[in-house]
Amino acid sequence: MKKKELSSLIHEKILETISDEDEQALKSTIENYAEKKNIPLYNPISINESHPNNTVMMQYFEWYLPNDGKHWKRLQQDARHLKNLGVGGVWLPPFCKATGTNDVGYGIYDLYDLGEFRQKGSIRTKYGTKKELKKAISKLHFFGIQAYGDIILNHKAGADETETFKVVKVDEENRNIEQSDAFDIEGWTKFTFPGRKNKYSDFKWNFQHFTGVNFDNRTGESAIFRILGEDKGFSPNVSDDMGNYDYLMFADVDYRNKEVINETLKWGTWIIKELNLDGMRLDAIKHIDHKFMESFITHVRLSSKKPLYIVGEYWSPDDSTLDQYLKDTDGLLALFDVSLHYRFVEASHAGRDYDLTTIFDNTLLSRHIFNCSTFVDNHDSQPGQALESWVEDWFKPLAYALILLRQDGYPCIFYGDYYGIGGENPIPGKKEMLDILLEARLRYAYGEQIDYFDHANTIAWIRLGDDKHKNSGLVCIMSNGDDGNKLLNLTEKFANTTWYDITKNIEHDVVLDEDGNGEFTCKGGSLSVYIKK
Ligand code: CA
Repeated sequence: MKKKELSSLIHEKILETISDEDEQALKSTIENYAEKKNIPLYNPISINESHPNNTVMMQYFEWYLPNDGKHWKRLQQDARHLKNLGVGGVWLPPFCKATGTNDVGYGIYDLYDLGEFRQKGSIRTKYGTKKELKKAISKLHFFGIQAYGDIILNHKAGADETETFKVVKVDEENRNIEQSDAFDIEGWTKFTFPGRKNKYSDFKWNFQHFTGVNFDNRTGESAIFRILGEDKGFSPNVSDDMGNYDYLMFADVDYRNKEVINETLKWGTWIIKELNLDGMRLDAIKHIDHKFMESFITHVRLSSKKPLYIVGEYWSPDDSTLDQYLKDTDGLLALFDVSLHYRFVEASHAGRDYDLTTIFDNTLLSRHIFNCSTFVDNHDSQPGQALESWVEDWFKPLAYALILLRQDGYPCIFYGDYYGIGGENPIPGKKEMLDILLEARLRYAYGEQIDYFDHANTIAWIRLGDDKHKNSGLVCIMSNGDDGNKLLNLTEKFANTTWYDITKNIEHDVVLDEDGNGEFTCKGGSLSVYIKK
């Protein structure tokens, strides 16, 4: 099958106008090609296949980083340290040119400008230049750390010119309800990228490539305006929050438009190669046609020389919604476990009233141990941000132990938790505590896991260790109430051994008896992690 036919079939697939025979043909073409080139179409089944030795992901930015253009340099200089912490993959901050250097990157302007062209007032992005970005990625690779790009496809911001086109105004709370007749607005939808001068792509965006905008330049009115035209409208394959949640912000990209599909697939091939990426974090997929997302993921995997780890951000506290998305997309990508994040938030607010034995109930992790990336907080949940839902300070060590010291999920640690948060209301980092937990993960959190989730306020688990990691094995015990204690059995393997708490919260040793039993304790509202002396 020729490339052109393939892209037509992909377009029909997204529009759901494809015949069964053609869909089958498309599927076999993809599978044959993948087999011939020996390219995996899915994430590795087990994280340990591609991330041996319990490595973690690190989200290497927070919202209030200084706008100094020095972040790629910081990352480069930090690579060796990250390697020593057990970081196996770095989620890079959004690297494309956005509305200005004070933009975190989500107000994305030009997909092809990675800090290379004088556009939006500067060559660099908030984080530095393309040259510095490439250097940082090479340094990560030198230390065996993967680089994941933050890929923002839902919208575009900061258009170069306005255009006049027909729209209807829709209800902000229910986008299916029209609040006006058709009328003309002047919207910011024309992207010509004059500073780039057609380098890498001569594609120019116009209102036909978008589903909606939120500003009429003629009247100064802000509202959600759905763009009218042949075959135009919000995609049906998005979240049905707000009636239809295709529209999130800025100029919403129309992934049912053939030119947009072709251009975006082309960019996907380009970006992976240009930056030698090892994976992607896909932004705001709740608002993007999931049939397009499927095609995009498969396309970039097929055009990459190496296996790609792909994780999506679907912001929903409801595990069944997350589960449904994984089903809709045929398990092609992992999702961040937003449901578990909300369990941590609830537990941190409820204190001793939270039943810790239920902490993993109704989470994505309880349904999918592989296609699941666990996290505690991120750049959106941090104070002052769009999805503010911050895990309270006292609970942070407990939450991190729950994602770092257990066997399931691919944990992601947040730059803001490690190094602290800047801006007007700074929050200090928890480097000291996280260093202890990361070391515990890297060296000791291996082997069979035995849970003692048997008391509402005090829970514990044991990792029995394995032969590959010398002296591995640990005990984690935590309490959200009073001081806690438990009689644990570490099996005869550890008969008569002595254990101590590496967090130093508890100062006395625990000596196991000849059957491997011992009484382990932790302080109230705290945790202890014991390893063998
Ligand atoms: Ca959208």
